[in-house]
Amino acid sequence: MFTMAQHSTFDIQPSKNPVSDEERKKILDAPGFGQYFTDHMVVIDYEQGKGWHNHRVVPYSEFSVNPANMVLHYGQAIFEGLKAYRHSDGSIVTFRPEANAERFQNSAARMAMPKLSKEDFVDSIRELVKIDAAWVPKAGGEECLYLRPFMFATENGLGVHPAHKFTYVLIASPAGAYFSGGIEPVTVWVSHEYVRACPGGTGAAKFAGNYAASLAAQEAADKEGCDQVLWLDAIERENIEEMGGMNVMFVERDGDDVTIITPALSGSLLPGITRDSLKTVAKDLGYSVDERVITMKELEERVGTGEITEAFACGTAAVINPIGTFKSRDGEFTVNNCESGEITMKMRSTLTGIQHGELPDTHDWLATLVD
Ligand SMILES: *Cc1c(COP(=O)(O)O)cnc(C)c1O
Repeated sequence: MFTMAQHSTFDIQPSKNPVSDEERKKILDAPGFGQYFTDHMVVIDYEQGKGWHNHRVVPYSEFSVNPANMVLHYGQAIFEGLKAYRHSDGSIVTFRPEANAERFQNSAARMAMPKLSKEDFVDSIRELVKIDAAWVPKAGGEECLYLRPFMFATENGLGVHPAHKFTYVLIASPAGAYFSGGIEPVTVWVSHEYVRACPGGTGAAKFAGNYAASLAAQEAADKEGCDQVLWLDAIERENIEEMGGMNVMFVERDGDDVTIITPALSGSLLPGITRDSLKTVAKDLGYSVDERVITMKELEERVGTGEITEAFACGTAAVINPIGTFKSRDGEFTVNNCESGEITMKMRSTLTGIQHGELPDTHDWLATLVD
């Protein structure tokens, strides 16, 4: 049976106190990441029995929190991350928002939280970007408006059970080019001591606690002079999983044949939308894609023999970030002389070209938010 999408009406309460044009321009000149927020936010409430209600666009403001709020104690909190881009014709688009909406539903299911409809998710983005359009940086660079949808428990009480009340919020933050001084390959710390996620656990959900659980390993990586952690599987501590905020890919070359190898979704790694999109981009560019188990041992050996020539991380924030050095308790090795690889950069420029409207959107990935 065909059912029409149900769209909710958002109550719009414009800010009486927006940031001045002058101040906003100053911010947009050097936004950094996640430092400044637009004038508004979207809020939708949930209560068991009543469902999602009170859809609204309100001035960006603080929440007051009851000390017994369940999220502070038992951590039911999930989030998403996507971007809005201004094209050279002045229109504003976003990239595959339905994929984020679907993942948000899957994360909710894993954390015993209610599902927000895909229509409400995408409409919330449309409403916020429409009212805060002046905050979307100019076209022509990699600047964008980063969108952060999230949901958390709002019931008060100390009994351990899935909460009956939740709040969905969407906030937006202008973001500068991820690599302002040229693309720099990162050094990763291969963590044998800590694991990020395990079979049956929460690793495939965009769950706030996964990040909390990763921070001690990030500190260990910092101490080793590494930029980020590379996570291994929880059981063997051999299979490469992901970076804990980005997925990973490797370039295998055999003469002119190029294969992109990426760890298969194991149930404990996060199904990245950038990862998924790059599999398609790779095929469009004439490369093969091999999703499978890849161990640290295989990687080191085949980097040594010259069969694996490039490595990179991929996710919404950086799109693609080359990996130059792998470091662990067992030693270290480099890939491609610690330089950004040719295939890596080709994949990156193709995906960013589509996102910024410089290449044709042949897979219908872009959704127009403002004409
Ligand atoms: C968000 C995230 C990614 C990347 O997902 P994208 O949809 O490509 O941004 C990878 N790993 C983890 C743990 C994440 O939270």
